[in-house]
Amino acid sequence: KRIISTDFTIEEEVEEKSLRPKTFEDYIGQEKAKTALKISIEAAKKRHDHLDHILFYGPPGLGKTTLSGIIANEMGVNIKVTTGPAIERAGDMAAVLNSLNEGDILFLDEIHRLNRQIEEVLYPAMEDYVIDIMIGKGANAKSLRIDLPKFTLIGATTRAGMLSAPLRDRFGIIEKLEFYESEELCIIVEKSAKRLGLDIEKNAALEIARRSRGTPRLANRLLKRVRDYAIVKADGNITYETTRIALGMLDVDEYGLDNVDRTILKTIIDKFDGGPVGLNNLAASLGEDSGSLEDVNEPFLIKNGFIIRTPKGRVATKLAYDALSVPYKY
Ligand code: ATP
Repeated sequence: KRIISTDFTIEEEVEEKSLRPKTFEDYIGQEKAKTALKISIEAAKKRHDHLDHILFYGPPGLGKTTLSGIIANEMGVNIKVTTGPAIERAGDMAAVLNSLNEGDILFLDEIHRLNRQIEEVLYPAMEDYVIDIMIGKGANAKSLRIDLPKFTLIGATTRAGMLSAPLRDRFGIIEKLEFYESEELCIIVEKSAKRLGLDIEKNAALEIARRSRGTPRLANRLLKRVRDYAIVKADGNITYETTRIALGMLDVDEYGLDNVDRTILKTIIDKFDGGPVGLNNLAASLGEDSGSLEDVNEPFLIKNGFIIRTPKGRVATKLAYDALSVPYKY
């Protein structure tokens, strides 16, 4: 399993709940999104109304679910959580919507994976708080309109480009979540360590932060693996040295790159002579889907200057060559 993978494991899901911030104050970073959301929440409260529908997008593990929980908390309403792939039929969507109470938040993760028919159930639900269901078949089919309570849909996606325009347009608030700076992740690691009852040196926390690909979920995951190593090998003391050794064993390098990142860079450098290489070509070489390469793997590499996008395709930078210890010849 990719240590740097941003997928949940069941065991982590349980542990993560205890690390999940419950208030805006505990939610580090994402200042732009936080400021906008706080204003919308305050306004909704003053209007005694529900919140507008919200769309969060950005790479996995940046805190979309956490932020949605905080919004529910601040609004004093319930949140129901589901995901696009779990909703297979239009009837499933109708049942979920029908189970909501006035003011509730419906958090719909991976909203880009809803199929078109299901999306169409959402349009009138989001706009007019009604759903139309068909009863019977053929000439006897009748459409029945059901009123819904006023609810807030929070959609989350790693693939904003895959969302259809009619669906995107129905969100009043659209916020992009950004990668975190090392200093912000360092605070998150220190807070998580405290919640887990661990002693951690400041520069050990910073080292974990630096190697977490700008992603809190990874920072928490690396912290737990370093904790395990420290328990077995260093009496539980999380020092800078112990951290470096533990992270080395986890195959996360000094640049915060893991095997998958290095494979991408190596492919551009070895197979395409450093680029430019088109996205589809690169994806085919890696045996990856081009969309997830673009939305999930690439943003970190681009943000941190390992690759650049040019009109002719992706190009590996000198930093990529340095990270792989390959001489830069251009
Ligand atoms: P996905 O898109 O895959 O659903 P996500 O973006 O919803 O992921 P979360 O599950 O909300 O990510 O966050 C992952 C973990 O990172 C949480 O358990 C939480 O502890 C931590 N975390 C996320 N954002 C923050 C933050 N801003 N401050 C502190 N901790 C955070």
